[in-house]
Amino acid sequence: MVCKKCKSVLAEDALYCEKCGKPVKRKPAAKKAEAPLAPEALWPLTTAQCVGILLAFCVPLLNLILMVIWAYAPQGNENRRSLARAGLILCGAVLVLAIMGLSAFLILVNTGAITLTGVV
Ligand SMILES: [Zn+2]
Repeated sequence: MVCKKCKSVLAEDALYCEKCGKPVKRKPAAKKAEAPLAPEALWPLTTAQCVGILLAFCVPLLNLILMVIWAYAPQGNENRRSLARAGLILCGAVLVLAIMGLSAFLILVNTGAITLTGVV
């Protein structure tokens, strides 16, 4: 900080110039702004909201529709978006595993490796 009158260097907390005596004008301390509230899209999901979302994911067909909407809607809660995307990934993984398992079963039946005698 420098004195505006005599240009001598002042201590940061000086109230007046020690050389010429000119009082130091201080800018009023910047009023600390309250931390702005995070936008609603970033609010954490409450436990009740998570329960509701997970219950909705248990309803066939509705779950896929909701997952796609929540995962790819341009706006909406970020945490719900992550949950929906995780749900879609898990659905995809389960679908792939089911197709692989069914395919393996059908191959084994068709090649005669296993028989369904007594079952059907
Ligand atoms: Zn001065």
